[in-house]
Amino acid sequence: MIKHLLKQSKQSGLEEIEHVKFLIISKIAYFALIVHALLIPAFAHIGANMLALVNILSVFAWASGIFLIKQGLTSLALRVFCLEVIIHAVIVCATLGLGAGFQFYLWTVSCILMIDYQLTFKRAAFYSLVMIATFALLYVFFADVKYSFAYPELLPHVNVINIIIAGLPMVYGMGLIREITLSQRVELTDMAARDPLTKLYNRRFAKKLITAAHQKSIELESSLCIVMADIDKFKNINDNYGHEKGDTVLINVARLIRQFIDDDDIAVRWGGEEFLILLTNTDAKQAFAKIETLRLKIAELEAHHEFPDLNVTMSFGLIEWQPLASIEKMLQHADEALYKSKHAGRNQTTVAKGQHPAFKDADAVN
Ligand code: GH3
Ligand code: MG
Ligand code: MG
Repeated sequence: MIKHLLKQSKQSGLEEIEHVKFLIISKIAYFALIVHALLIPAFAHIGANMLALVNILSVFAWASGIFLIKQGLTSLALRVFCLEVIIHAVIVCATLGLGAGFQFYLWTVSCILMIDYQLTFKRAAFYSLVMIATFALLYVFFADVKYSFAYPELLPHVNVINIIIAGLPMVYGMGLIREITLSQRVELTDMAARDPLTKLYNRRFAKKLITAAHQKSIELESSLCIVMADIDKFKNINDNYGHEKGDTVLINVARLIRQFIDDDDIAVRWGGEEFLILLTNTDAKQAFAKIETLRLKIAELEAHHEFPDLNVTMSFGLIEWQPLASIEKMLQHADEALYKSKHAGRNQTTVAKGQHPAFKDADAVN
């Protein structure tokens, strides 16, 4: 339910919280309006005519609160509701005694007040404490009030119902705050980990992932390849078609890389138009074949065809990670292999020296 509400709200951050709060308070307000309306005949029936009258005023208060919510004045509506609850609780407890459990709504309102961000923290805390103090004072002043109306045998049931109804919004509210906090934490972590343009991992965050993947490959004794990739003559693309088109090319290339790699692989925007790809469970020979396929795909990327002369190609350098080698050493070798690809005319893949025997002659760096 809470997740559903969070999904329903398209905003982010504080706006999201406010929107979800708005949805919940609206629901609670309608619910309270109905309950108070039903209490009018109920109180009249047991002979508590004064309370029936109070409930007519309560219905009026909840209706005006709903009107305020619809006008976007949620915070003001909340204060109307709080005032209604405190007056209602005091009058009902003074009349029926504490056995009916109407005092527990003061705890609910105390919690709800704390999430009214339009109040300063001090003010919200002060109002909340007033609610709790009122709750305590009810026990001081009305502990001796005896229930003297019809159906006294129903009192324990009413007490239980009130405790449950008063408790639900507290549990629900805490659950909501929990979900929002967790989803925002995930969002923030993701934002800190990814490059905003291409949505690939950024270099800073990727180092942790690369170290972890390396560790895992050692444990599983599986092979791992590091690939450095760089768009060829990207400066010309910017110069001839504009920076914005350059950005679009970066986005499209990144998307293609992301679609192309496996779930356990890692794609990183290493620098401006430079990418790092970590291929897990892949030896140099397999990596070479895979990257060659990617290279050809990039060269024929559909999105580029709106500019017929726009040629996007990429050069690659790859190395299979030697279990004992440092990340820096491996990056350096992959970089050198990439440099060789550039030097040899671009739009090609080079496997670093000393790698798989299959590449010794044709593709390895000499
Ligand atoms: P090479 O084939 O040797 O790699 O040539 P190049 O032109 O791709 O390399 P160079 O390093 O000379 O130029 C890279 C260009 O990438 C320069 C820079 O303006 C551009 N660039 C870097 N980051 C971005 C970006 O986020 N958006 C755009 N549009 N351009 C970027
Ligand atoms: Mg380049
Ligand atoms: Mg570059």
